[in-house]
Amino acid sequence: MTINVLFAAPAKDWDEYAPLLRAAFSDHGIDAALSLETPPEETDYIVYAPNSSLQDFTPFTRCKGVLNLWAGVEQIVQNPTLTQPLARMVDDGLTQGMVEWVCGHTLRHHLGMDTHLFGQDGIWREDTAPPLASDRTVCVLGLGALGSACANALRQFGFRMRGWSRTPKLLEGVTCFYGTSGLLDALTGADIIILLLPNTPETENTLNAETLARPARGAVVINPGRGPLIDDDALLAALESGQIGHATLDVFRTEPLPSDHPYWAHPNVTVTPHIASATRAKTAVNVIAENIRRGEAGEPLLHLVNRDSGY
Ligand code: NAP
Repeated sequence: MTINVLFAAPAKDWDEYAPLLRAAFSDHGIDAALSLETPPEETDYIVYAPNSSLQDFTPFTRCKGVLNLWAGVEQIVQNPTLTQPLARMVDDGLTQGMVEWVCGHTLRHHLGMDTHLFGQDGIWREDTAPPLASDRTVCVLGLGALGSACANALRQFGFRMRGWSRTPKLLEGVTCFYGTSGLLDALTGADIIILLLPNTPETENTLNAETLARPARGAVVINPGRGPLIDDDALLAALESGQIGHATLDVFRTEPLPSDHPYWAHPNVTVTPHIASATRAKTAVNVIAENIRRGEAGEPLLHLVNRDSGY
């Protein structure tokens, strides 16, 4: 029997995704009809982007899964009409992109590249050779699909790696901490802090006046996670005092970041416009097709979101 799949994402994504999804369905042995307009009562699965116009899931009475195109689910997880299983996106392309972005920005600060990129003044400074990675402690907050891949990649450079998660983790070459009590230990003395936590009520203001006091003086904060993970006033104060030397921020409480926000003009803040990484259609379609195959075979869906924890 043909499975009806509704594509509920901005129309601009349709041209890219439709042919790739159809090919992935065929590769996975799925007989599916993909459409932008499947009637709700006939829809078996929804390929979903949280910025789509579909916000009321009530009429989708036979839907067996909402398959999110994004890794972050904070815009949908609390939707009271969503009673169907929700899977988030874990995509090799998205992960690889995040690893490259995080390693690039970490190495920028580790190597002190700004010294030579900006303000060249004709002075030959021989005392600017960077330390080795093994002389620096990097702390990754969030050890999920993205955080663990980034920690693993940074470990290959030789950084002293720490990580923090909600539940205990074992990662080779990474000193792991967990739970509320583990956060201060994870941060104490760290030189570079990378945030890859989801946006949930528990993770809001993970970096605040108290926690920002724990890293080494002049530490660097890199946030490709979500804006609310940081108390912005506390970060600005820590930048002002020199406790934090630089912040590279990709995500913000309000996006686009308003043009008069102090982050734009701050000499020790780098703003990037939520581009750290994106779902790549070429690889993501296989995750979606595999989940539909699983759903039809009565197997549990991959990457199911836990509504209680919010991620
Ligand atoms: P994930 O696999 O769900 O991992 C989340 C990690 O955060 C897990 O290690 C989890 O701990 C930990 N965590 C959650 N709540 C916590 C808490 N209260 N205390 C301590 N640790 C907590 O998510 P992911 O795929 O790695 O993605 C992470 C986030 O990256 C997404 O939610 C999204 O916000 C962001 N993102 C940003 C971009 C961008 O372009 N800027 C792109 C994609 C994703 P456990 O392991 O114990 O569950």
